[in-house]
Amino acid sequence: MGRLDGKVALITGGARGQGAQEAELFASEGASVVICDVLDDDGKQTAATIGDRATYHHHDVTLEADWASVVGAVLTEHGQLDVLVNNAGIVAISPLVMTTEEDYRRVIDVNQIGVFLGMKAVVPHMVERQTGSIINISSVAGLMGSPGMIAYGASKWAVRGMTKSVALEVAPFGVRVNSIHPGIIETPMLDEFEKWGIMDAVMQRVPVNRKADAIEVARLALYLASDESAYSTGSEFVIDGGMTAS
Ligand code: NAD
Repeated sequence: MGRLDGKVALITGGARGQGAQEAELFASEGASVVICDVLDDDGKQTAATIGDRATYHHHDVTLEADWASVVGAVLTEHGQLDVLVNNAGIVAISPLVMTTEEDYRRVIDVNQIGVFLGMKAVVPHMVERQTGSIINISSVAGLMGSPGMIAYGASKWAVRGMTKSVALEVAPFGVRVNSIHPGIIETPMLDEFEKWGIMDAVMQRVPVNRKADAIEVARLALYLASDESAYSTGSEFVIDGGMTAS
């Protein structure tokens, strides 16, 4: 018996990286997974690798119309949506004075507005069914200051706060909302750190002295997606190799 038998999960940014690992793991535990992304080739490939339990939809999280379309399609196809992982995100590394308003707004648009639109799109259905788990992917950057990442840090702190606010709104209706705060995870996102030559400096802040594999975050997301975490809502789940312990 799988830990997600009979559940339907929508994962944004699921074409690659952590989202793809979550899609694969959720499907192996019995869920039907809907992978959404703007990287169509990668997304189709990820869904094909998983097989019958996965479908891919082109979906830009910054567009409310895309949310309406994909949630409508999921409900038509499956009749239910049990889990939303708001995983899509972008990182931008630049000090405050070098960050343009356009750069700042772009990061907020994807990482923060995307999460807002996602929760708004699925909550009515979940409340009606009196069940559902929303998992918002924040970051250690949502728990502490991140020099050189003003927009990213702002967006991830926002995700942490939005998670708690919505969790309180929907708790009486059987819907749970939690945030995950990953540290340094081996995915294409780290290319940006390599590009700026700051990877070694970042790694010095990781007590366990290694990056995590994306599957390690996926296992935490699996717990939050499953009914095993029924008593957890409005909470922060940190997976950071000790980064925020000091
Ligand atoms: P990634 O770059 O491999 O994956 C991010 C995915 O989001 C990509 O597939 C990308 O195409 C998608 N995406 C970007 N903009 C989108 C949009 N507008 N609409 C839909 N999809 C969009 O990186 P990842 O590490 O897998 O990132 C997953 C999440 O984890 C992100 O929210 C990221 O901020 C967060 N995170 C990552 C790390 C890390 O070290 N890798 C650490 C903390 C938090």
